Amino acid sequence: MSIAKAVALLGIGRDNLRAIPVDESFRMITRELEQAIARDRQRGITPLAVVATSGTVNTGALDALPEIAEIASNYGAWLHVDGSYGALAAIAEPEKFSGLPFADSVALDPHKWLYQPLDCGCLLFRDVQAARTAFAHSGEYVRALSADPVEGYAFFEESMELSRRFRALKLWFSLRYHGMAAFREAIRRDLEHARQLGARIESTPQLQLMAPIELSAVCFRYVNTPGADPNGDAVNLEILKRVNQRGRVYLSNAVLHGKFCLRACIVNHRTTDADVAEVVSEVLAAAAEVCDRPRAGT
Ligand SMILES: *Cc1c(COP(=O)(O)O)cnc(C)c1O
Repeated sequence: MSIAKAVALLGIGRDNLRAIPVDESFRMITRELEQAIARDRQRGITPLAVVATSGTVNTGALDALPEIAEIASNYGAWLHVDGSYGALAAIAEPEKFSGLPFADSVALDPHKWLYQPLDCGCLLFRDVQAARTAFAHSGEYVRALSADPVEGYAFFEESMELSRRFRALKLWFSLRYHGMAAFREAIRRDLEHARQLGARIESTPQLQLMAPIELSAVCFRYVNTPGADPNGDAVNLEILKRVNQRGRVYLSNAVLHGKFCLRACIVNHRTTDADVAEVVSEVLAAAAEVCDRPRAGT
């Protein structure tokens, strides 16, 4: 969604965006990426950027960055990594993000996994000069009007926005106050809680895990449905509504392999073991309400 929007804003045209198929674990199939590039080049179209995702929204799937970086570099394409949700977990588990240094740019959302209030987005460039060059025209114009004799560049010469709030301040304060180690520990606990939840789901026969747990997103389904799966989506949707109405835990949803799934995403430093256990007990309690309810027409 965000990539299609960026492509449209850049004037590249949504028709020139290629969505690359993913494997069973929702990771980009790198062979498909290479084939898509080859197909376009045969038609005289030059691919200019590859966008990989380091932590997809739904499942936290991590694209194979080292392989993707090699392909992008072979074809002279910019490599952007969308790490908005997931890449800040590199602070806690860097080994999962080994290809990250190959990125030309990385998007991060400290308002997600660095626990900041909305909004606090962050864009990193390997070479900041590239950003300045992209905005060079306005840069020259602005500099003519109000050159900063000390810094040379103002941050509004490196991005879309002109006037803006000092979003970095809250992040700087909390990093200084709590220290990076506290963030590393909190992210580690979130990751551990997600694995704990996965284990609980796997040991609960009425629940089925729907995707590998790479980070802190846990997608699952209630499967013990009388009359089985034709009803599964409707039952799970009803369970989701009731879980959230009950107000003890809050779940979102995802559609995976064409099926409606419940999704727990643990990105709160205050989440406890008890909260994690409650996800399962609340889903089972809501399921009991849904499935015991007399059905219309019976
Ligand atoms: C949240 C998210 C976005 C959108 O970013 P915002 O800063 O919330 O607008 C884009 N991509 C991914 C993977 C995300 O998780």
